Amino acid sequence: MPKQSFYNHFQKWTDDYYIAYNACSGAVALMTPEHYATYEALVVKLNAGQKDGFNEKEAELLKQLEYGGFVCPDTHSELQDLQFKHNIARYSCSNLSLVIAPTMACNMACEYCYESNKTGRMSKELIDAMADYVEVRAQGLTSLDITWYGGEPLLAMDMIEELSGRFISLSEKYHYEYGASIVTNGYLLTPEVVDRLCELRVKACQVTLDGPASVHNKKRPLKNGKDSFATIIRNLNYVLGKMAVSVRVNVDQSFSVETIGQLLDELEQAGLREKVSINFGHLEPATQVCSNISESCFETLAFSKVESDFFKLLLEKGFRIDKLPAPSAVCCMSQIVNSFVVDPQGELYRCWNYVGDVSHSMGNIADVHNYQHPNFLKLFSVDPFEYETCRECNLLPICMGGCPDRRVSRGLSSEQVCETWKYNLEPMLEIIAASRQQEARRRAKEQS
Ligand code: SF4
Ligand code: SF4
Repeated sequence: MPKQSFYNHFQKWTDDYYIAYNACSGAVALMTPEHYATYEALVVKLNAGQKDGFNEKEAELLKQLEYGGFVCPDTHSELQDLQFKHNIARYSCSNLSLVIAPTMACNMACEYCYESNKTGRMSKELIDAMADYVEVRAQGLTSLDITWYGGEPLLAMDMIEELSGRFISLSEKYHYEYGASIVTNGYLLTPEVVDRLCELRVKACQVTLDGPASVHNKKRPLKNGKDSFATIIRNLNYVLGKMAVSVRVNVDQSFSVETIGQLLDELEQAGLREKVSINFGHLEPATQVCSNISESCFETLAFSKVESDFFKLLLEKGFRIDKLPAPSAVCCMSQIVNSFVVDPQGELYRCWNYVGDVSHSMGNIADVHNYQHPNFLKLFSVDPFEYETCRECNLLPICMGGCPDRRVSRGLSSEQVCETWKYNLEPMLEIIAASRQQEARRRAKEQS
């Protein structure tokens, strides 16, 4: 007998449409008021235990609802299924993901940076140890994903070259898929560097622009005090079409719709509209080192409001949105047994926030992993299925319990642990629906 999914979200959008969203399958559908009336009639019958004998319209709608995961057999436990998929993702060793910081040095001096004033580069011995580490695990590996991180990873381009070459050779020997991405401030992303990174299979980059030129240049000056915005924009123009480009904007209370609007206008003038996708980072004092910024940060609830306002602005101005709420088996790498952040000394971490702070290391890449290490277990053992509020939450498939570090390290209230979608789902569903329509129009235009 069919039943409604617990993870359905329906809401009126305009006079012409209702939005139907299923957080488990990620399906989005637009229903006319007539369809929605059919849906309501159908739900009454399903809740009364009716198995068949539906009229033609109801039978057709039921088929579509089953296809989108809005309806499932009543013998099916959605929660158990989610937990099963969560555990597969958590313990799978067929994929190895490494976030590698070849150096902690940086050419910028951002006010909020927890990596500031750190130095250190990988030694030749460590590069050998990293290649050995991958080779030992290569048999049985189906994919190796690398994210180049830092500090500013492009200050260690020679190490990216050396390690990429080793990982690619191993992929040919052991037949695993190899792919990489890079998180960079973009200043050193010159055409020569981009061409070389493409040869080294770096397929995507994330670059931070903290506002329009006048704001960004104050928030993210170079170490020598000079501006960086114009150079980054020039570099991004060359990257287009060679790598996927995601622009991250770290948001604190100094940002307004006007500030973001100005940034988007400048990106449009630079020819980047529709070519880059944009995501908004919720700036938070993640460690002691950056506690100095805590007064300027948004609380989760306040951030959820500005986040949806900024997303709406992106759509109005024809920009692509990166990272809309979507189903995911885990919240982040800290819950995946085979994912690590590696610092220039080979120390391993479970979370991006702690790279370079050896008090959070779970051991060195040259040693055998200790899965009983408190710094491994601290975040890995956070399991959303152990929390009643998460088990009973109809956003669990897209949130998966929220950031484990926020939950266990920072003494936050349960409201602050929840992702912003808990508070802004209504506008976010409108944004999801509008962005799907925008993408469909874009595809149709490209094909015509
Ligand atoms: S624990 Fe939180 S901050 Fe760390 S990687 Fe996961 S989501 Fe990000
Ligand atoms: S952290 Fe909050 S939003 Fe996320 S699953 Fe748990 S209760 Fe839901």
